[in-house]
Formats: sequence, C-alpha cells, structure tokens
Amino acid sequence: MTRSPKKPVRQQDRRHLGRREILRGGAALAAASLLPVSAFGSTLPALASPMLAGARKTKRVILVVFGGGVRSRETILSDNVPNMSRMAAEGVVFPNTVVRNNGHYGAAVSILSGSFEVFGIRENARPSMPTLFEVVRKQAGLAASDVWLSTSGSDQETNYAYSTASGFGAPYGANLIGGEGIFNAEFKDLVVGEGGLRGVDASEEALLGTLRGAVKTPLPTKDGGGLGNTAEATARIEAFILDELRGGASDITGLGANDAKAMHVARNLMSIFRPKLLGVTLRNPDVAHGSFNDYVTVIRRNDEELGKLFDAVKGDPELAESTAIMVLPEFGRDRDFNARRGLDHGDASDELNKVALVAWGPDFKSGKVETREIRSIDVTPTIVSMFGTRMGAKTGSVISGLFG
Ligand SMILES: [Zn+2]
Repeated sequence: MTRSPKKPVRQQDRRHLGRREILRGGAALAAASLLPVSAFGSTLPALASPMLAGARKTKRVILVVFGGGVRSRETILSDNVPNMSRMAAEGVVFPNTVVRNNGHYGAAVSILSGSFEVFGIRENARPSMPTLFEVVRKQAGLAASDVWLSTSGSDQETNYAYSTASGFGAPYGANLIGGEGIFNAEFKDLVVGEGGLRGVDASEEALLGTLRGAVKTPLPTKDGGGLGNTAEATARIEAFILDELRGGASDITGLGANDAKAMHVARNLMSIFRPKLLGVTLRNPDVAHGSFNDYVTVIRRNDEELGKLFDAVKGDPELAESTAIMVLPEFGRDRDFNARRGLDHGDASDELNKVALVAWGPDFKSGKVETREIRSIDVTPTIVSMFGTRMGAKTGSVISGLFG
C-alpha cells in the first residue's frame, strides 16, 4: 500500500465523510448541557479560565500517544485502522497536526508537556516543563487516584509521569503502570505463582514491597503534604495489579505485546478506577526501522486494542457521555524506504512532520475534518482547558474548531 501514489489528504477526507454520515447516527454525542463548570473539578480556582464554552459534558479524558513513529498513510489514510477510523467518523480529525522529530522520547514529552522546549533533553531525563498530569492535579485539584498513565513499559517512559519543574514534580505525578516491567511471566510467578502471595506474612510483605516498587504511584509522604494516594486507593491499586497478573496482562505475547499490554491495562483502569485523566503511551510500531510488514502488523494490533478501549467507553452509559478520547502519534516516518525496506524517521518530509489527531468526545464536533494546521503541543493545553485550568507560558494553544 505504500507503493500506491500519495493521494491528497482532501480526497481521502471525502471518503471518510461518506462513512461518517453512515456512522453518525450511532454516535454517543449530545448537545452541550447546562452543567456548571465546577461540576468538572471540585476545587477549581476562581480564575478566568480559557476553557471553551462548549466543554461542559466532558468529565474524563483519555490521551493515547499512538506512538513509535506512525504515518497517516498507514493509519487514518489506510484500511489498517478500522477502529481509529470509526472514532474519526464520529469525531474530529486534524490531518495536518505539526510535530517535531525530537526523538521518540522528546516528541512524546512535547505532547505531554504541551511544549517543544525540550530540545537537547537527555533521553533518561524527566521533562523540564510540567506535564498535563501535574497541571490538572495541582491546578484543578484532581486526586492522585484520578490520574493515571499506562506505558508500553521502558524505564525511559516512566519519566512521562512527572517533570522536574519547580512547584510540580512527584507529588503531583500520575499513577504509573509500565506493562513491560510488571506484567511478565517472571513477575507473575513471583507474585501470584507457586510461593507467591497467599495471605500476609513477612515474606509476602516483601513481595508486596516489590510490587509497590514496580508500580510507581504517588504515595503519601511526610513532605508531600498528603498529595499521594490514600491508603484505601493504594489497597485498591494493589488488588488491581494482582488481578491483572492473574488474569490477562501477563499472558499477552508476540509482536507488539508491550503496547497491547499498555492498552489492556488502560481499558481495565478505565472500567475499574474510572480516572478523570488517563494517558497511554505506545511505541512498538518503531519496528518499522527494520520491517515495514511488522510495523503494519503492530499498527493493526494497536488499533484493535484502541477499538476495545473505545467500545469499553461507549458500552458504559456513564463513560460514554462523559469521556473524551484524543489519539495521535509523536511523529510520522520517512517518505521512502531505507536500505532494509524499513522506514526510519529523519527526512523532514510532511509524512514525518505532520500526523493526524483524532478527537472523539461529548463536547467535540462530530463528523468533521479540520484541515488547517494545528500542533501536537496544542493537545494537552486543550485537555487541561477542559478541566478548567491552563498550562504555563511557552506551551501550545487550545485547539479551536474542535468543540461543537
Ligand atoms: Zn525510531
């Protein structure tokens, strides 16, 4: 399919417009309600807020960084992603979302911090600008247990949970689950296998300590001012992890397994904890450096998981009318194959530097394609605005044309 001539985006949009009309009747969308802004977060500061007037029904936001370097040509302009396409048909697509190729990590951090000001970031350093997780926790008063991040799992990705920014940081971080480090056979055996947790004695306490170490949650600390999870939330989180270890996440294997685990965990988090803000970061499509076919296989698998998450939201009456989902990769990939018939990222083409943002939710327009340029750094300022607060200086802007 990459050998077919590149079609203009506008022509492709028309194809989706037709499908959209068919799907539109089933959209779980509704007109803006008269709910007061304060229904969104209980302790909002009474500051003038940039939140757009349309954002009244959204109480929860899921941000999926559909990452690893993914071109529109293999996603929204193809038949590889039927689930993303139906989300797009019921929502808004911005096919000209400008990104910067700042490495996978830096480009993903740009999305989460709403800022391109991360050039030169060391690949193992935390963001220097506050992430959206910290901003909504500190400024919109969301509890620790309301804010989650599910990653594909590398140590590097654990840095997405919070920044080193002054006045923010760990006390305001997201609860973090990295699929790779915890939902594997070894850890499953350690915790729930032979000799694993049965009741609570000294050795089991040690195992629980390992568990707590593997799941990076903001726990209450003396100098953290009680900003972490309550004891009750911590107990629920541990029970959740044990359930996941016993039933499902540990058994996901094969090409793209870590991304599939991250999506699986995200779906269960949504059903069980019903967080107000949930980030998911994927990266396995980066196999494209060595294999185009594997890249497409992982994209299809990730789309399948995206569809399950979408259906879990739509199938829950309360979530369906209160949850917004935004999906975009950190950047695309090169226009042409490399010597291995794979795809790298570094040619500065539009295929690399422009991606598609898909947004679906009760306050968003339905069945629209907005072709004007926006930026990947506009996404989190938009999300933050829906919680009635704003990101700091040097960040992107609230996306206009999104709200219905
Ligand atoms: Zn790469």
